[in-house]
Amino acid sequence: MVARIIPVDPFDLVIFGGTGDLARRKILPGLYRRLADGQMPPEARVVGAARSEIDDAGFRELVREALVEFIPDDVLDAETMDRFLALLHYVQIDAVGETGWNELKQQMRPGVVHVFYFSVGPSLFGPIAERLKHRGIADSDSRIVVEKPFGKDLASARELNESLACHFDETQIYRIDHYLGKETVQNLMAVRFGNMLFEPLWNSQYVDHIQITVAETVGVGGRGEYYDRSGAMRDMVQNHLLQLLCLIAMEPPARYDSDAVRDEKLKVIRALDAVAPDDIVRGQYAEGPDGPGYLEDVGNPRSRTECFLAMRLGVSNWRWAGTPFYLRTGKRLKARASEIAIVFKEAPHSIFDVPRGRHSNILSIRLQPNEGMQLGVTIKEPGPGGMRLIDVPLDMSFAEALGEQAEDIPDAYERLIMDVIRGNQTLFMRGDEVEAAWAWTDPVIAGWEARGHVPSRYDQGSSGPDDALMLLHRDGRRWREIRP
Ligand code: NAP
Repeated sequence: MVARIIPVDPFDLVIFGGTGDLARRKILPGLYRRLADGQMPPEARVVGAARSEIDDAGFRELVREALVEFIPDDVLDAETMDRFLALLHYVQIDAVGETGWNELKQQMRPGVVHVFYFSVGPSLFGPIAERLKHRGIADSDSRIVVEKPFGKDLASARELNESLACHFDETQIYRIDHYLGKETVQNLMAVRFGNMLFEPLWNSQYVDHIQITVAETVGVGGRGEYYDRSGAMRDMVQNHLLQLLCLIAMEPPARYDSDAVRDEKLKVIRALDAVAPDDIVRGQYAEGPDGPGYLEDVGNPRSRTECFLAMRLGVSNWRWAGTPFYLRTGKRLKARASEIAIVFKEAPHSIFDVPRGRHSNILSIRLQPNEGMQLGVTIKEPGPGGMRLIDVPLDMSFAEALGEQAEDIPDAYERLIMDVIRGNQTLFMRGDEVEAAWAWTDPVIAGWEARGHVPSRYDQGSSGPDDALMLLHRDGRRWREIRP
């Protein structure tokens, strides 16, 4: 079964920061794959815009090198590469200066979709938006894409929103959270709202608790200085993990359209409880045989920034009152694994004379690696010897269930860029959502800062600090194993 690819309309896509890491690693390779699959039309034009003194030929060479580096050899082919490079142009521009804007204007063709991707630091969002609008390069049909981090607190997020809102309507602004572009994340909505099976059970009466884990094996790498000013709460929880929580917790929207979905997500964020200090565990990986610790990595021996965070959250509404959500994310953990697990309650009474507390259904949704879903069900252990129960997975890994079609699943960035061209905002965060998320985040951070909290140390390659295990143990629950 091969997925039907519907080409998008012809477009001009300007990538501010076209020479940067994100453009080279994700955006441009993603576009290449969409061209190779026939989704990006041959009339498309991609314009790199940055300060580097290069021309079209220099940009094409830079992109050629990026494609060779970031696309597997068996996917890259010379003919598609040439077709792709021929669509590329470059304009030397300073986001905060006056040069280059006329040249950029000349690149924009009438009658095609115009998209401006701000793959630059947030301090440049306002200056770029202003110049695009005042110089008549963007109009009321143009779309802009902005990258994370969208602010570092409520005040800065508001400021950013305002700096964009001066020049663009909310329907033109696409705030990327690439977690929302993942196939399984969308499948989560399909499973919830496309089946009768789960939705009646999707509430505190039947769900014991929910775990969301995003574990990384890498440390802070070369981003030490940035990361140390941010930490796991701002870098991961406020955006990615909260967005996942919203998709699990939201009420069924009336339609699968951008405002209906985003309205429901917003209600969830507004229903989040404040988090008690006892319900938060913060950590930093210690120096170990595998490498330097967090403090050495960020070059700040007194840092109190967390690179591990686990917390217990409550959602105060009729559906979820009493069902905790446990969130956990961290660096240098034992495996790279992102998973959402819906842990259902035990059957109310066991007729099998087996101890209580052993068997409950778990729906696990795996975001990476090996995107897929698994439903754990309890069955009889085969063979003679009476009624003994075991839990086995009903597996639905995309690769097995969908064969060839699963191999063609586009990367999150590819899908999201194509959504921008199609004008579909469903998988992008709306301004009020981002602000509501910061409004919840700010007091939590202010709380631990006021207490002078010092993060716990944890071993590299572990599951995080021991206190994080206690967060569940004290509730009579346990974390799921972090498995690759
Ligand atoms: P980067 O590697 O530092 O690239 C920054 C880009 O911006 C370069 O192309 C740079 O080119 C250009 N630039 C800087 N100042 C400019 C100016 N005044 N006028 C015009 N162009 C300017 O950063 P990045 O990693 O690609 O990240 C870009 C944005 O995406 C950031 O907001 C980052 O937080 C976000 N992001 C990145 C990643 C990632 O994996 N890299 C992931 C998520 C979000 P010149 O120096 O030639 O001007």
